[in-house]
Amino acid sequence: MFWEKDIETMDVSELRELQLDRLRTILIRANATPYYSQIYKQIGFDPSDVKSLDDIQGLPFTSKNELREHYPYGFLAVPRDEIVRMHSSSGTTGRPTVVFHTMRDIDNWANLVARSIYMAGARRSDVFQNTMGYGLFTGGLGFHYGAEKIGMMVIPSGPGNSQRQIVFMQEFDTTAIHILPSYALHLLDVFEELSLDPKKDVKLRMAFIGAEPHSEEMRKKIEDSYDIDAFNSYGLSEMCGPGVAFECPEKNGLHVWEDNFLIEIIDPQTLKLLPDGEEGEIVFTTLNREGMPLIRYRTRDLARIYPDPCPCGRTHRRMSRIKGRDDDMLIIKGVNMFPIQIETALMKFPEIGRNYQIILETVGHMDELTIEVEILTPADDMRVYERLRGHIAEAIRDEVLVKPKINLVQPGTIKRAEGKAVRVVDKRGKN
Ligand code: ADP
Ligand code: ZN
Repeated sequence: MFWEKDIETMDVSELRELQLDRLRTILIRANATPYYSQIYKQIGFDPSDVKSLDDIQGLPFTSKNELREHYPYGFLAVPRDEIVRMHSSSGTTGRPTVVFHTMRDIDNWANLVARSIYMAGARRSDVFQNTMGYGLFTGGLGFHYGAEKIGMMVIPSGPGNSQRQIVFMQEFDTTAIHILPSYALHLLDVFEELSLDPKKDVKLRMAFIGAEPHSEEMRKKIEDSYDIDAFNSYGLSEMCGPGVAFECPEKNGLHVWEDNFLIEIIDPQTLKLLPDGEEGEIVFTTLNREGMPLIRYRTRDLARIYPDPCPCGRTHRRMSRIKGRDDDMLIIKGVNMFPIQIETALMKFPEIGRNYQIILETVGHMDELTIEVEILTPADDMRVYERLRGHIAEAIRDEVLVKPKINLVQPGTIKRAEGKAVRVVDKRGKN
């Protein structure tokens, strides 16, 4: 059941003590970086004064901006010689940032991924197909090393080449897969083209899905279509990559590995700390990193902490699935909404296919919201479409308070991104 039972089920007060111990060490280590040493001087901070976890609140936040301004080596805490790996964010928002790891960091990261997927039920007898990008993106290599640590047979297939992915699954009896949720749905079209049934013709039993926001309904759709268990995997390159927070078999929130990461939730506007249970921006401090310590790193991701203990016995607190990044928020006709809310409404319709896009335009000085969505099977009768359009528009209006125009399109029509799905096309002010 447990990869590291002692740590995973550690008494909460002991866990806090371990965190404090590691926090002190990391704050001292950060003083070796050009960036934090200068911050410490500016605010007159002495890491040896830290007596409790709350003392971290005396330190400023770090954001992507600082990482960019002090690119490339401003956050390095060890001589360059000790660095064995560089990674980069996928650059979803602006210029990518770089992160450096020592050998110990890499090892520790692999252990966190192993702990995460073992928790979900992966075992050495599994054949693991890793369809995430290898290279600068952390999804591929991060999972690769973790899966090898468990002793699974790893197929480093990488992304794309969908027919070959299915051939691999069939020929090597893949049982576990790491896949973007949007790609998991897309792959269903390819199964169909090959006249194969993903429930019967492959031996998949579990998927690790993450790296992009997705709804509970999307998870269900993936689980039902493949007849598998799908587990939510959360991470970001600035912390390591995957292995920061992961779902246990309860599938009700993601355990944040608190022995490695100190989590705070803040109000992104006032920057005030929020109590457990309230939704806000996730802020992380690395507690166990040599190469590049990060203090109070603002992720821009919105979630909340579940304060109650998890029935699985792990004491590391859980966070909710990510609602989106605070810059994902759409303001349409003055109403605030997140793409994931639209997805939640869409996924409830069995007639709906595997891809959708949210299009925003200005029509006669007014915002117009159009949802383009692929349908599963073409209908002969146009009235079926009309009714469906009406029902979808109402379901979305109930969720986000704005009634969209619904555009039903044939399967495979909507252009797919190569990496993380691009759900929103904002043409406002451009037409
Ligand atoms: P980039 O910021 O360029 O996308 P990363 O590749 O490091 O760089 O991606 C990390 C981000 O991906 C997270 O901050 C979060 O926004 C998103 N993400 C990762 N895992 C999940 C997940 N399980 N659910 C929702 N969003 C996720
Ligand atoms: Zn649990």
